[in-house]
Amino acid sequence: MIVLQGKSVYKDVCIGKISFYKRQESIIKRIHVTDVEAEVARFQDAKAKGVAQLGELHEQMIQTVGEADAAIFEIHQMMLEDLDYCDSIENIIRTQEVNTEYAVGITADNFSDMFLAMDDEYMRGRAADVKDVSERLIRILSGQDTRKQTTTSNDKYIVAADDLAPSETVQLDKSKVLGFILQKGSSSSHTAILARSMGIPAIIGLGENLSEEYDGVACIVDGFTGQVYIEPDQATLEELQKKKADSDAKKELLQTLKGKENVTIDGTKINIYANIGSPADVAKVFANDAGGIGLFRSEFLYLENSDFPTEEQQFLAYKQVAENMAGKKVIIRTLDIGADKQADYFNLDHEDNPALGYRAIRICLTQPEIFKTQLRALYRAACFGNISIMYPMITSVEEVRKIKEIVAEVKTELKEEGVPFKEDVETGIMIETPAAALISDELAKEVDFFSIGTNDLTQYTLAIDRQNQKLEPFSNTHHKAVLKLIQMAAENAHKEGIWIGICGELGADTELTETFLRMGIDELSVSAGLVLQVRNQVRSIDLNK
Ligand code: PEP
Ligand code: MG
Repeated sequence: MIVLQGKSVYKDVCIGKISFYKRQESIIKRIHVTDVEAEVARFQDAKAKGVAQLGELHEQMIQTVGEADAAIFEIHQMMLEDLDYCDSIENIIRTQEVNTEYAVGITADNFSDMFLAMDDEYMRGRAADVKDVSERLIRILSGQDTRKQTTTSNDKYIVAADDLAPSETVQLDKSKVLGFILQKGSSSSHTAILARSMGIPAIIGLGENLSEEYDGVACIVDGFTGQVYIEPDQATLEELQKKKADSDAKKELLQTLKGKENVTIDGTKINIYANIGSPADVAKVFANDAGGIGLFRSEFLYLENSDFPTEEQQFLAYKQVAENMAGKKVIIRTLDIGADKQADYFNLDHEDNPALGYRAIRICLTQPEIFKTQLRALYRAACFGNISIMYPMITSVEEVRKIKEIVAEVKTELKEEGVPFKEDVETGIMIETPAAALISDELAKEVDFFSIGTNDLTQYTLAIDRQNQKLEPFSNTHHKAVLKLIQMAAENAHKEGIWIGICGELGADTELTETFLRMGIDELSVSAGLVLQVRNQVRSIDLNK
């Protein structure tokens, strides 16, 4: 038996045979070309074919895997049409007088290195996408079939690979996949996201010890420990079979909670909503029976774009989510860019302390034209559902008043232009700085609700950079200081008769659910996949005890 250790991205156990993912790698040669313009035209032609192919795949995949997972092909289309990406390819063809395949290969390497060097985990995950899109172009240029091989066996299997490109993951026959084990991968890669949404174990970062020689070999994946057992011995098999049975029983039990109330034994109720990062995530909100969306991180629109998203683009995205949620609450957080979330076109200066820097509401208040575009889109979209607006990184009452002035200007402008919008939109702020918690008595007079961003509140209270892995041993997510600030904000919210929720990761920490209920927290917004676990916890609590 061989035991490999990696990082788990979903806690569950699976037992089966490994199918090592096979793909045809293109070998790229550097060829000198004399007619560079003809070569550029060849690139343009391949690009157009690629865009069309991705469009078809998108349509096809919507039918087979659903909107959410098919969305990756739309992202790939955008990447293929990205100006920087295309300029780089054309530039290499012209200046180095080389073939398109070579220019695409170099550009793919450069862009993927650039993504990998970024601080933001989501952006690092995009390195795989740019390689994937480039591979597609190269296959088109060489006239190869674009379909990838997958195993033809009828059995279910554990997919092993060095890494899986998003389009490869999406095209797998998911009814046959028991789990994923990858040599590389990041926890925000598409494979990881998919594994979480499919609710199957996935382990990344197993390294080269996960060899292709294991194709067809018996294996157990333990997503609770991040261990992979190759050719397990009888004792391990029995132990893990039991672990799997326990996990299956728990999952089964959770499914029975769909449609049930989030109510404690003594009758205390709480709302459990889901956090989303893009309109495509709405499917998971329904699949996990969340009561609404407690945090829609609107940054995705900015991070996925190579320029400021237009009012129309934003309007359509917000409208889509509001309509799909059909009257259920959708709390959209305004732009929270800066610090770990960077978009080049904002041209933000380098800062020594970016987490304490020019970010979120600070950008919006100093660049009102960017803020107003988003507010116009939000107030317009609010006509189509139950939208609330929430502002991040608040530290003072003055900021909230300034926001209100800008909102008033936006409404006047919309009115003058005769553009329909909703006048009264529920408005809240994130309590994610100690300053906001400490003056929450004053802030509560200004807004309709609070939502506690425990990720930032913890980082700022404990002075622990949330991005710095080395500080893990110093980080205590249950630190009394953070809990006291949450309690203070809850008391002040209720004194003013407004509601308060938690949308940071701590909201899903079931060890604290009872504490939050005792504080009177009204709403918990958690990853969609954790909604039922939190519901289960709520239903096991008796506050009279
Ligand atoms: C938080 O800070 O807890 C939060 C929810 O916002 P983000 O993680 O996007 O900073
Ligand atoms: Mg935050």
